[in-house]
Amino acid sequence: MVSNLKTSSFVDEISAIPGGEGVRNCIQCGTCTASCPNADKMDHTPSELIAMARAGMKNEVLSSNAMWYCLSCYLCTVRCPRGIKQTDLMHALECLAVREGLSHGRTLTPAMYRSFNDFVYSLGSLPEMGFMTWFYMLTNPLRAIRMLPVAIRLFRHGRLNVKARRLTPQGTDQLRAILDKAESLGGVS
Ligand code: SF4
Ligand code: SF4
Repeated sequence: MVSNLKTSSFVDEISAIPGGEGVRNCIQCGTCTASCPNADKMDHTPSELIAMARAGMKNEVLSSNAMWYCLSCYLCTVRCPRGIKQTDLMHALECLAVREGLSHGRTLTPAMYRSFNDFVYSLGSLPEMGFMTWFYMLTNPLRAIRMLPVAIRLFRHGRLNVKARRLTPQGTDQLRAILDKAESLGGVS
């Protein structure tokens, strides 16, 4: 009885996040896994993740590397016979993993999202140089030094913005209202 309660609460948690609604409709046909170009890098395949989620294996699901390897190619989504938006589900699991402090330790993607969010929220735009420098400071400052030659080449070809293009104060307010709304719907800032 206790285990049933735990199971339904994790599935409810996933279902409540936009993109996670379809988790109960899966028939475990494996089409999403067979379609996924990154399934071989995932510790649990997309269909396994759904089965584990429905079995209430919250910690195992949220500490998986699988969702962080999702390329958002949408192959699983367009091929699912049950109309489950597996791509959105993967991103819903990312949100939950970050919120619960269980995001997979070997991926830098949460730090990338954090850096992206900080810049967009405060400036309304993304100056690539500042964004990448901040990302490396959060993760591995030595890597920033190793990437310097690439940055210089990009800069010479006009592919690296150094200056932030700021929004008008009114535009900034509107963008923040959108981001706040996304957070209230389950996004993580
Ligand atoms: S393709 Fe759809 S129904 Fe089949 S296993 Fe994947 S999510 Fe479940
Ligand atoms: S959207 Fe993600 S989970 Fe789906 S097939 Fe592509 S990489 Fe795999």
